[in-house]
Amino acid sequence: MEVRVAAKAGFCFGVKRAMEMALDTVLKKEGPIFSLGLLIHNPQAVEYLAKKGIKEINDLDEINEGTLIIRSHGVGPGSLHIARDKGLDIVDATCPFVRRAQVLASDLISEGYQVVVVGDRKHPEVQGIIGWTAGKAIVVENAEEAVFIDQYRKIGVVAQTTQPLENFEAVIKVISERNKEVRACNTICSATSERQQAASELARQVDAMVVVGGKNSANTRKLFSLCSKSGTPTFLVETAGELNQAWFQGVKVVGLTAGASTPDWIIEEVKSRMSEFEEMNNREEGMEEAVEVKAVRNGQVLKGMVVHVGQDEVMVDVGAKSEGVIPIRELSCC
Ligand code: SF4
Repeated sequence: MEVRVAAKAGFCFGVKRAMEMALDTVLKKEGPIFSLGLLIHNPQAVEYLAKKGIKEINDLDEINEGTLIIRSHGVGPGSLHIARDKGLDIVDATCPFVRRAQVLASDLISEGYQVVVVGDRKHPEVQGIIGWTAGKAIVVENAEEAVFIDQYRKIGVVAQTTQPLENFEAVIKVISERNKEVRACNTICSATSERQQAASELARQVDAMVVVGGKNSANTRKLFSLCSKSGTPTFLVETAGELNQAWFQGVKVVGLTAGASTPDWIIEEVKSRMSEFEEMNNREEGMEEAVEVKAVRNGQVLKGMVVHVGQDEVMVDVGAKSEGVIPIRELSCC
């Protein structure tokens, strides 16, 4: 069984950078270290970071000292002010692509534009961008919602970095039909679409697909859904321990992809476990071949090899499960 890994899989630039900054913080900083929200949407990586001493908090009210890591999704300026006022040591791991969206949204507001953010209004990245517009941004998820936006003198549009380009363009189209001055700022990062495209392409070329990632990770679930849609049997696992050997019976080529928050070490574990399955399946197939027996029916004439001649009987190997036994008295000599 050949294991093919998607051309783009696993950590994106922003998550990798945030992980490295977090681990670097552990080495360099004294005292307690916190992350505001989950640093990464992967339970095993979170557990690993917790063992390293990074504790997750959901509200700045929970702490008054120590180092605070801002995750790749970023936060609004309000959270940064509170953290500074508390004297926290801030390690800002906001992804530069997210930071660009924040800065553009903030600039648009300063220049008198009504800001529209295309994305998931509950997502922390979108919440952070809204913060950089002093809470004035309107959020729409799609073109259907954009129809209800009032008319403004000037409208500036930014996107949650993981948005599909088609959705962003559809929203721009609707807004442009109803407003004179529209400034569209494409803040979409290509990491998500590249991973999705690579996974879909691979799923069409293989007999089975394995998607590795946190079940709480939206981009992992999206990869799973895209691969499943290709018609190829697709399995979602968080760790190598969840793999089932039976999934790979008769599979010649299996594809492997992973969400943007899946660490390399988990991908490697899954890959090596699948290689073990290959060896086990090969061994079992070999054993099956070894014990394969001929079915013998009444009246059938068989050729065989005499393997033993005793006083009263002759044993003949006819390729069946056991040798045939012929009493000597039933044999005739010419
Ligand atoms: S998906 Fe893109 S924007 Fe989001 S963290 Fe990764 S690299 Fe940054």
